[in-house]
Amino acid sequence: MRGHLMAPHGNGVMRADNMPGAIINIDFAGNVTTFSPELLGTEHGRYGTFEWGNVHNDDWPAIVSNAGFKLAYADILAGIQRCGDSCAYFSVCGGGNPSNKLAELGTFAGTETQYCRLHIQAFADIVMEDLEKELGIGQGGHVGGPNRK
Ligand code: SF4
Repeated sequence: MRGHLMAPHGNGVMRADNMPGAIINIDFAGNVTTFSPELLGTEHGRYGTFEWGNVHNDDWPAIVSNAGFKLAYADILAGIQRCGDSCAYFSVCGGGNPSNKLAELGTFAGTETQYCRLHIQAFADIVMEDLEKELGIGQGGHVGGPNRK
């Protein structure tokens, strides 16, 4: 978190779990998904099973052509965009964990969750407060987020 907070302007966090292909998940039968590993084996009313191909039959272009993948990715991108537009912690978070948004909000297109409030926002506030004390700036206390994009 210190590294993220002290990174030069414009060097915000990029998350592997909301980037297609950065994490490839394959189950025992060869079914393939990407994004958060927890999605494999999960089923959802809007998104279906998250099995967007099979290693025995499908290459990467076939997987990203799958209608379920396209729907999920469009919603993940919408969630990242909404996070970027609304959250002061975006530069140290990168737009959140898709499986967590789905579990807490029922959609990939959402923004804030209890998980990100505790694991990103509260953590960033504590580290930012420490940095401010070290640098002899600010009054300490809640700093209201890094607010750097
Ligand atoms: S901290 Fe939460 S609301 Fe902010 S960018 Fe991350 S996931 Fe989105």
